[in-house]
Amino acid sequence: MPQFEIPEQQWAQVVEKKGGPVVFKQIPVQKPGPDEVLINVKYSGVCHTDLHAMKGDWPLATKMPLVGGHEGAGVVVAKGELVTEVEVGDHAGIKWLNGSCLACSFCMQADEPLCPHALLSGYTVDGSFQQYAIAKAAHVAKIPKGCDLETTAPVLCAGITVYKGLKESGVRPGQCVAIVGAGGGLGSMAIQYANAMGLHAIAIDGGEEKGKNCRELGAQAYVDFTTTKDLVADVKAATPDGLGPHAVILLAVSEKPFHQAVDYVRSHQDGRPQQIAGSLRLDGGGQDCRQICRRYQQIEEETGYMLRGGGVVFFIFFFPDETTNLS
Ligand SMILES: [Zn+2]
Ligand SMILES: [Zn+2]
Repeated sequence: MPQFEIPEQQWAQVVEKKGGPVVFKQIPVQKPGPDEVLINVKYSGVCHTDLHAMKGDWPLATKMPLVGGHEGAGVVVAKGELVTEVEVGDHAGIKWLNGSCLACSFCMQADEPLCPHALLSGYTVDGSFQQYAIAKAAHVAKIPKGCDLETTAPVLCAGITVYKGLKESGVRPGQCVAIVGAGGGLGSMAIQYANAMGLHAIAIDGGEEKGKNCRELGAQAYVDFTTTKDLVADVKAATPDGLGPHAVILLAVSEKPFHQAVDYVRSHQDGRPQQIAGSLRLDGGGQDCRQICRRYQQIEEETGYMLRGGGVVFFIFFFPDETTNLS
C-alpha cells in the first residue's frame, strides 16, 4: 500500500459568513473517522449550488464556516480502520452526497439522496475546495485509474444528474430523447450520454453557436427556440416517425419548456403509464426550492399530470392519466 505524507495544514477556499466572500487561507487537515477516507483533491468542478450555499439561498442551513465544492476528484491518502472497500492510493471522487445513514427506509431502497441524515459535501460538511477532503467510504465515487481526474471532476455532479435523468426516464436504445437546455453544462453531458446509450438526441437551446456545439457532441437534431415558429411541431418533426420524443430531459430553469414538453412528448402506449419527462434542476434563478415545489403542484393541477420528485436534484416524471391523449 502506498504511503502518503499528509501535512498538518492545507490551503482551502473558505466561506466564513453567509453571503461570503470566499477567503483563500490555510486550515488544518482533518483526520478520517473509522468509516471515512481522506482524499487529496486534485481537481474540483464548481457548481451553481456552491453559489447558493455561499449566499444562503436555500431553507436548509449550511455549515459555517464552510468549504464548498462537491465535484472533487483525487487520490485516497488515508482511511479509517473500518474501511475495507477503498484502499489508500485509489482514485476517488467527492460527490454532493458525502454520507448517509444506510439504515433508513430511503437508504434501504437505493434512495440515499433522500436520507434524512444525509451529509452534503460543501453544504453540511466541508467539501472539495480544499486540498484534503473527508468523505464516508461507502459513498465516494470509485474512479478507475485510467480515467483522467480533470475531466472526471464535473461528472461527479453535472454528469450523474443527467445520467440519472436518462436512466430514470426509462428511455431505451433506439428511442428519442429531447434535451432542453442542451447547450449548457448539464445538457452537453446529456447529449454525450444519450449517444453512448444508443439514443436519438434532439437538442433544444438558443443560438447558432450552441447548435454547432450540440451537433458536434452528437445531437442528431437541433431546435433553436429563439428562431423557431412552432417549437412543438419542430421537435416532433425531428423524430424519425414524427410522433415526438419518448422522453424529455428538462435542464432549462424556466417554466415554459415544461408546458411545451407536455405538448410534444410521445403518447404512452398499451395503456400503461410511461415516464415521459426527465430531470429539472432546482437552480431556479435563486428561487427558494419550496416556491418551486409549490409551482410544480400547480402545474400538476393545471395539466392533469402527476409529478414525482424529491431530493437534492428533482427528477420529475409525468404520468399521463388514463384519459389523456398527448398526441
Ligand atoms: Zn452540483
Ligand atoms: Zn438513511
